[in-house]
Amino acid sequence: MADPKKLTEEEWSEKLSPESFRVLRQKGTEISHSGKYNEHFATGIYNCAGCNTPLFDSDQKFNAGCGWPSFDGELTEAGIEQKTDHTHGMVRTEILCGNCGGHLGHIFNDGPSETGLRYCVNSVSLSFEKKGEGVKG
Ligand SMILES: [Zn+2]
Repeated sequence: MADPKKLTEEEWSEKLSPESFRVLRQKGTEISHSGKYNEHFATGIYNCAGCNTPLFDSDQKFNAGCGWPSFDGELTEAGIEQKTDHTHGMVRTEILCGNCGGHLGHIFNDGPSETGLRYCVNSVSLSFEKKGEGVKG
Protein backbone atom coordinates (compact mmCIF):
# COMPACT_ATOMS: atom_id res chain seq x y z
CA MET A 1 0.00 0.00 0.00
CA ALA A 2 1.19 3.52 -0.83
CA ASP A 3 2.21 5.78 2.03
CA PRO A 4 -1.17 6.79 3.48
CA LYS A 5 0.21 10.17 4.50
CA LYS A 6 0.63 11.00 0.80
CA LEU A 7 -2.93 10.25 -0.26
CA THR A 8 -4.94 13.25 -1.38
CA GLU A 9 -8.33 13.96 0.17
CA GLU A 10 -9.87 12.94 -3.14
CA GLU A 11 -8.15 9.57 -2.97
CA TRP A 12 -9.32 9.14 0.61
CA SER A 13 -12.90 9.90 -0.39
CA GLU A 14 -12.74 7.10 -2.97
CA LYS A 15 -11.19 4.66 -0.51
CA LEU A 16 -13.42 5.26 2.51
CA SER A 17 -17.15 5.05 3.12
CA PRO A 18 -18.79 8.51 3.24
CA GLU A 19 -19.18 8.27 7.05
CA SER A 20 -15.58 7.14 7.61
CA PHE A 21 -14.35 9.93 5.34
CA ARG A 22 -16.38 12.50 7.26
CA VAL A 23 -14.93 11.37 10.60
CA LEU A 24 -11.35 10.33 9.71
CA ARG A 25 -10.54 13.07 7.23
CA GLN A 26 -12.91 15.89 8.21
CA LYS A 27 -12.77 15.32 11.99
CA GLY A 28 -16.44 14.56 12.29
CA THR A 29 -18.09 12.71 15.14
CA GLU A 30 -20.56 9.89 14.78
CA ILE A 31 -23.85 10.15 16.68
CA SER A 32 -23.41 8.69 20.17
CA HIS A 33 -24.72 5.14 20.65
CA SER A 34 -24.94 4.79 16.85
CA GLY A 35 -21.58 3.15 16.25
CA LYS A 36 -21.27 -0.55 15.55
CA TYR A 37 -18.44 -1.03 18.09
CA ASN A 38 -20.00 0.88 20.99
CA GLU A 39 -21.38 -2.26 22.63
CA HIS A 40 -19.08 -4.69 20.90
CA PHE A 41 -16.97 -6.83 23.25
CA ALA A 42 -15.56 -9.66 21.12
CA THR A 43 -11.90 -10.60 21.49
CA GLY A 44 -9.62 -9.15 18.85
CA ILE A 45 -7.84 -6.12 17.54
CA TYR A 46 -9.26 -2.77 16.45
CA ASN A 47 -7.40 -1.45 13.41
CA CYS A 48 -7.47 2.01 11.85
CA ALA A 49 -10.27 2.08 9.25
CA GLY A 50 -8.08 4.26 7.06
CA CYS A 51 -4.80 2.36 6.90
CA ASN A 52 -5.33 -0.87 8.89
CA THR A 53 -2.70 -0.12 11.55
CA PRO A 54 -3.51 -2.02 14.78
CA LEU A 55 -4.59 0.60 17.34
CA PHE A 56 -6.33 -1.08 20.27
CA ASP A 57 -6.73 -4.54 21.78
CA SER A 58 -10.15 -5.69 22.95
CA ASP A 59 -8.56 -6.12 26.43
CA GLN A 60 -8.19 -2.33 26.51
CA LYS A 61 -11.85 -1.71 25.74
CA PHE A 62 -14.33 -0.87 28.46
CA ASN A 63 -17.90 0.33 28.61
CA ALA A 64 -17.73 4.02 29.46
CA GLY A 65 -21.45 4.50 28.87
CA CYS A 66 -20.73 7.60 26.80
CA GLY A 67 -21.98 6.13 23.54
CA TRP A 68 -18.64 5.67 21.83
CA PRO A 69 -16.13 2.81 21.97
CA SER A 70 -13.72 3.56 24.83
CA PHE A 71 -10.27 2.23 25.59
CA ASP A 72 -7.92 2.70 28.54
CA GLY A 73 -4.73 2.26 26.53
CA GLU A 74 -3.36 1.77 23.03
CA LEU A 75 -1.16 -0.82 21.34
CA THR A 76 2.50 0.20 21.37
CA GLU A 77 2.72 -0.03 17.59
CA ALA A 78 -0.26 2.32 17.16
CA GLY A 79 1.82 5.45 17.79
CA ILE A 80 -1.32 7.51 18.29
CA GLU A 81 -0.68 11.24 18.00
CA GLN A 82 -2.25 13.78 20.34
CA LYS A 83 -3.16 17.33 19.40
CA THR A 84 -4.86 20.10 21.35
CA ASP A 85 -8.29 20.79 19.92
CA HIS A 86 -10.06 24.10 20.61
CA THR A 87 -13.19 23.50 18.51
CA HIS A 88 -16.75 23.66 19.88
CA GLY A 89 -15.71 26.06 22.67
CA MET A 90 -13.85 23.34 24.57
CA VAL A 91 -10.24 22.42 25.06
CA ARG A 92 -9.85 18.74 24.34
CA THR A 93 -7.08 16.48 23.16
CA GLU A 94 -7.67 15.03 19.75
CA ILE A 95 -6.22 11.62 18.91
CA LEU A 96 -5.01 10.75 15.42
CA CYS A 97 -3.71 7.56 13.82
CA GLY A 98 0.09 7.67 13.96
CA ASN A 99 0.34 6.16 10.51
CA CYS A 100 -2.21 7.96 8.32
CA GLY A 101 -3.16 10.97 10.46
CA GLY A 102 -6.84 10.00 10.46
CA HIS A 103 -9.01 11.50 13.20
CA LEU A 104 -9.97 8.84 15.77
CA GLY A 105 -11.64 10.81 18.54
CA HIS A 106 -10.46 12.39 21.79
CA ILE A 107 -8.58 11.31 24.89
CA PHE A 108 -9.57 12.22 28.45
CA ASN A 109 -7.91 11.78 31.84
CA ASP A 110 -10.95 10.38 33.63
CA GLY A 111 -10.56 6.69 32.80
CA PRO A 112 -11.68 4.22 35.47
CA SER A 113 -8.67 1.89 35.30
CA GLU A 114 -5.12 2.32 36.57
CA THR A 115 -3.99 4.08 33.36
CA GLY A 116 -6.46 6.89 34.15
CA LEU A 117 -7.00 7.29 30.42
CA ARG A 118 -10.13 7.16 28.34
CA TYR A 119 -9.67 7.02 24.59
CA CYS A 120 -13.06 7.94 23.18
CA VAL A 121 -13.08 6.70 19.60
CA ASN A 122 -15.55 6.76 16.71
CA SER A 123 -16.62 3.29 15.54
CA VAL A 124 -16.28 4.35 11.91
CA SER A 125 -12.60 5.13 12.52
CA LEU A 126 -12.06 1.49 13.45
CA SER A 127 -12.13 -1.86 11.74
CA PHE A 128 -12.33 -4.89 14.02
CA GLU A 129 -10.38 -8.08 13.42
CA LYS A 130 -11.41 -11.09 15.43
CA LYS A 131 -8.63 -13.10 17.08
CA GLY A 132 -8.06 -16.64 15.90
CA GLU A 133 -9.21 -16.14 12.32
CA GLY A 134 -5.77 -15.72 10.81
CA VAL A 135 -3.85 -12.53 10.44
CA LYS A 136 -4.55 -10.42 7.39
CA GLY A 137 -1.83 -8.65 5.44
ZN1 LIG B 1 -4.51 5.08 10.06
